[in-house]
Amino acid sequence: MKTGFIYTDAYFDYDYGPAHPLKIVRLKLTFELIKAYGLLDLPSVQTIITNRAEEDDLATFHSREYLNMLKQANDGHLGGDAYAYGLGPGDNPIFPGLYDWSLWSTGATLQAVDFVANGEGDIAFNIAGGLHHAMRSRASGFCYINDPVIGILRLLERGKRVAYVDIDAHHGDGVQKAFYQTNKVLTISLHETGYSLFPGSGFEYEIGEGEGEGYAVNLPLPPYTDDETYLWAFDEIVPPLIRAFKPDVVVTQLGVDSFYSDPLTNLHLTIYGYEKVLRRIKDLAPKWVALGGGGYDVSNVARAWAIAWAVMNGIELSDELPESYLKKAAKLEIYEKTLRSGPKSASSRESKDIRMEVERIVNYLKKTVFPKVLK
Ligand SMILES: [Zn+2]
Repeated sequence: MKTGFIYTDAYFDYDYGPAHPLKIVRLKLTFELIKAYGLLDLPSVQTIITNRAEEDDLATFHSREYLNMLKQANDGHLGGDAYAYGLGPGDNPIFPGLYDWSLWSTGATLQAVDFVANGEGDIAFNIAGGLHHAMRSRASGFCYINDPVIGILRLLERGKRVAYVDIDAHHGDGVQKAFYQTNKVLTISLHETGYSLFPGSGFEYEIGEGEGEGYAVNLPLPPYTDDETYLWAFDEIVPPLIRAFKPDVVVTQLGVDSFYSDPLTNLHLTIYGYEKVLRRIKDLAPKWVALGGGGYDVSNVARAWAIAWAVMNGIELSDELPESYLKKAAKLEIYEKTLRSGPKSASSRESKDIRMEVERIVNYLKKTVFPKVLK
């Protein structure tokens, strides 16, 4: 088995701003941890230096008028009717080089896609991707360019059948919307319910339209959902659908904001639960294009994606973090000493009620989505 890790230090020329929760430095720390564990020196691993995407790549999904607005904003100044495109102070700030940053993160996703589609390898990981909220003509939820959609479109163009699995705490709304009316792409998103979290969508009754009916799948989870209930719901829904759909490639968005310690969200996964989800995905995916995603505790992101990359390469990591990484982490005031930390289960106050609600949703999906996909 061969794997590709797409990366460049050029990401660190960009910054959403000091008050913004999305810290690009988390990618650097992830890279440092993966490198410190020796996970880029494995014979099966190819490290691929990121190339920027072309404007025409972005235009496979985004409107030219929106791309022109992003290019205008690339100098860091608010211009024209930027607000109409979701740009401005707040979630989607106009920072210097925001268009260039988007070219890098999308370029890496396309390299991951090509690596897998060309048969160069079985799994590729772009930790800078997974910006799943961007819409055709609007920035949303820290996302300017929707690299998962652009990557999936490239896979479709190359004749591949694609399933998309999104485990970010936020609903993968931009990706769902792009493929809502087609049965060519199966999208599955597990996330905190839209009743309590941005973007306020992804309810179980959103199942696709027309030919796409049954091919958009949502598992909205109540706040405080823990590993046990999460994994139960995952097992009930995801493997049967993926097996029935028979994708050539599974594209995943691996957001790390589902953790109990994430500052922006309310799900209660632990790093142990996250690792189990990744093992399940590895078993299900014939080929795997893995993208990053959210994650607002920088230490969680580095440790979770190091584990993800180890799972992709069939390696079991020791819990002791490498010394060279600890020094780099300390500079960011991160002092955790172990790879896996925290409680083995972050069980919640109202776990019985949560379980009942999740069972209700799972049963609903079995009645509505399963008959369409498992036919
Ligand atoms: Zn998120």
